[in-house]
Amino acid sequence: MVMQNTDLHSTYLLEEIRKEKLELSLMEVCGTHTMAIARSGLKELMPKGIRLISGPGCPVCVTAQADIDAVVALAREPLVILATFGDMMRVPGSESSLAQERSRGADIRVVYSPLDAVALARSNPGREVVFLGIGFETTAPAVAASIEMAATEDIKNYSVWSLNKLVPPALNVLFSDPELRVDGLICPGHVSTVIGISPYVELAARYKRPCVVTGFEPSDIIEGIYMILTQIKQGRSEAEIQYRRVVKPQGNVVAQKMIDRFFEPVTARWRGLGSIPASGLAIRKEYEAWDARVKFALPEFPERPTRGCSCGEILKGKITPLECPLFGRYCTPSTPIGPCMVSQEGACAAYYRYGRRVN
Ligand code: SF4
Repeated sequence: MVMQNTDLHSTYLLEEIRKEKLELSLMEVCGTHTMAIARSGLKELMPKGIRLISGPGCPVCVTAQADIDAVVALAREPLVILATFGDMMRVPGSESSLAQERSRGADIRVVYSPLDAVALARSNPGREVVFLGIGFETTAPAVAASIEMAATEDIKNYSVWSLNKLVPPALNVLFSDPELRVDGLICPGHVSTVIGISPYVELAARYKRPCVVTGFEPSDIIEGIYMILTQIKQGRSEAEIQYRRVVKPQGNVVAQKMIDRFFEPVTARWRGLGSIPASGLAIRKEYEAWDARVKFALPEFPERPTRGCSCGEILKGKITPLECPLFGRYCTPSTPIGPCMVSQEGACAAYYRYGRRVN
């Protein structure tokens, strides 16, 4: 009965959205939203004037090429076991990928949690286990917990190469880009469980754009879009939560404290968006014994974007994957040229997998 009511509610909201005559671009800033929208065919259900565009919501995709090159170099270091989430394996760097390095003999293990990497360090005392920290505010607390565990157990052969990033500074960059027209943000449900709503309150007020924290079911996304449209029609630009069953306005204070204890914000490179101040998480000096950047003084790698790949433009919402000339012809999930086709949350992978739909 509850389900039926939910369906009826969503159908009503969708009908209202479909009557809309406004010309608007709404950006989703979460790879899980990108996949959910593609899977459910919501783009096709929007009226002609409403464009749903993807933003920089996939942590693997926004990792700069220079940082991929650095971790490839790290994997080549003697005695290193590089522990990483699976999505990173096939992301092409300038000359190689982690998958290629593994086939050449590098010891690279796919793990499901940073705590698995600590266990690897425990059982390989003669090796240095480096966990590749990729992700946003959602994964950073678990990475912090792994450092805490290594510190508590005095495991000295464990370290983290942090490429963790913070979402709000990137949204600031997007909103201040005069070439990009984003009329409203479908804000990330997962990240917001940690950060709460206050960063969006600031963004919505500064840039006069509605921001709605939205869940991942099609019914959530329909309601999130409806809430954005309602704000626009009423001349409001506020931060609101659609995903109220999970996201609290204050976020997860315990997780926030965990991030703050082990990390400090630093300038980070983002694919397509460039260097953004205070958008990366570096391990604090007190915990540098578990900081792989301190243990391995690798040189700075220049940013060398892959020729022909438009991931940077896609991550800024300036084009869709279908506008990349390589899409589906030379670049496919089995022959990926850029990270947006590799990652399970990448926009190119979503378009390829769910019928190459056009907005
Ligand atoms: Fe890059 Fe491939 Fe996407 Fe084109 S289709 S932007 S080459 S990942």
